[in-house]
Amino acid sequence: MDLEKYIRVIEDFPVKGISFKDVTTLLKDGEAFKYAIKHMADKIRNEKIDLVVGPEARGFLFGAPIAYELGVGFVPVRKPGKLPGETMKYEYHLEYGSDSLEIHKDAIKPGDRIAVIDDLLATGGTILSAVKLIESLGGIVVHIGFLIELEELMGRKSLSEYNISSIIKY
Ligand code: 5GP
Repeated sequence: MDLEKYIRVIEDFPVKGISFKDVTTLLKDGEAFKYAIKHMADKIRNEKIDLVVGPEARGFLFGAPIAYELGVGFVPVRKPGKLPGETMKYEYHLEYGSDSLEIHKDAIKPGDRIAVIDDLLATGGTILSAVKLIESLGGIVVHIGFLIELEELMGRKSLSEYNISSIIKY
């Protein structure tokens, strides 16, 4: 299945100059969504992972069903002030602006094997901060999976020590 045709590209969103890859058009197609989740899960099926971690908000949409498909748990990484328990915080820069992310301190145990999932790799800032949070709790990042990779932004460069996969490349 050619998943790229289910992605809608919207120019100048959320700010001028950004060519936004809209995944909602893939999510609303049952067959395409199922195919995407199965394919992303296949990349990590043999990695003996303990948990999937996904950053807010679109990392939830792909990370949680992949965890379900693999029969492992899902851990959310969220914007500050959203998680109710004790958290770790990490500040990062993204394609448009800067932000910080948090994870529950008790969500990951030292030695846990983790797959990190997000919808899209741009500069890598978001996923790198999720990785830093996981590693600060002693987790081992065994795979980082994306649905989409914007190759010209070279997000892979900042993630060169990790095993990365993406399904659709622009
Ligand atoms: P990065 O941190 O790699 O620069 O940006 C990736 C993050 O920003 C991801 O969490 C992703 O959801 C969001 N993002 C940036 N650009 C786009 C885009 O064009 N489409 C979508 N769906 N998300 C984007």
